[in-house]
Amino acid sequence: MGSDMSIVKAAKVSTIGEASLGLNEGNKGLINYLMKHRHGSPFEHGAMTFLVKAPIFVWREHMRHRIGFSYNEESGRYKVLQPEFYRPDVARTQEGKAGHYIIERSEDDILNHDMDCAFEWANIRAYQMYQEMLRRGVAREVARMVLPVNIMSSAYVTMNPRSMMNFLALRTAPNAQREIQIVASNYESYFSAKFTEVWAAFCGNGRVAP
Ligand SMILES: Cc1cc2nc3c(=O)[nH]c(=O)nc-3n(C[C@H](O)[C@H](O)[C@H](O)COP(=O)(O)OP(=O)(O)OC[C@H]3O[C@@H](n4cnc5c(N)ncnc54)[C@H](O)[C@@H]3O)c2cc1C
Repeated sequence: MGSDMSIVKAAKVSTIGEASLGLNEGNKGLINYLMKHRHGSPFEHGAMTFLVKAPIFVWREHMRHRIGFSYNEESGRYKVLQPEFYRPDVARTQEGKAGHYIIERSEDDILNHDMDCAFEWANIRAYQMYQEMLRRGVAREVARMVLPVNIMSSAYVTMNPRSMMNFLALRTAPNAQREIQIVASNYESYFSAKFTEVWAAFCGNGRVAP
């Protein structure tokens, strides 16, 4: 819902009332001015809704974004969870200190193979135990406790352009975890197409949320 002009109109209501000139150069300049000087509230006019499927460990990071976000997620109390597990394509190694880790993709074939086996074994075993408990009458809300954080879950996420930019600033950064970077980059593709001038101003002003 909304476009670059929603932001222009929200900003102009405080000076000239209704803005009806369309997205001319002056209005593009206004968007940039608002971004540069961190006049944030006009960027709250607009909304984007996504249906996202991601592993639980990504949702834990995602749901830390509280302001301007609405979430509705599938329930492990009401439905039987499907055996859909995320697995990275290769192992990643980690060196350095907290906050300055160097994370690298492993080219060690044995390590990659062993990691694959570990995921396979843990996921199959956990799901078998889940099913077994359900079969014996254990409530879904209890049986799900044995499931790992790489099981997939789906949610609708709605955000405004300002909260989107805060998310992108933090979650496309090189120190963000790879899997949430993927979510962020999918969001950004949509955002850049829909709010083109806002996105350009965001990029042109250091990718900081206003
Ligand atoms: C690389 C990385 C590593 C992280 N590591 C950890 C970690 O180890 N442990 C951990 O717990 N979290 C961690 N986080 C999560 C992080 O601390 C934030 O909770 C998360 O990124 C959401 O950001 P946010 O608060 O800006 O978003 P939102 O909750 O959407 O808030 C948006 C903005 O609103 C304002 N705001 C929101 N709430 C308040 C408030 N209560 N008071 C004042 N202003 C407010 C702030 O300006 C904030 O930037 C990490 C995040 C990243 C990107």
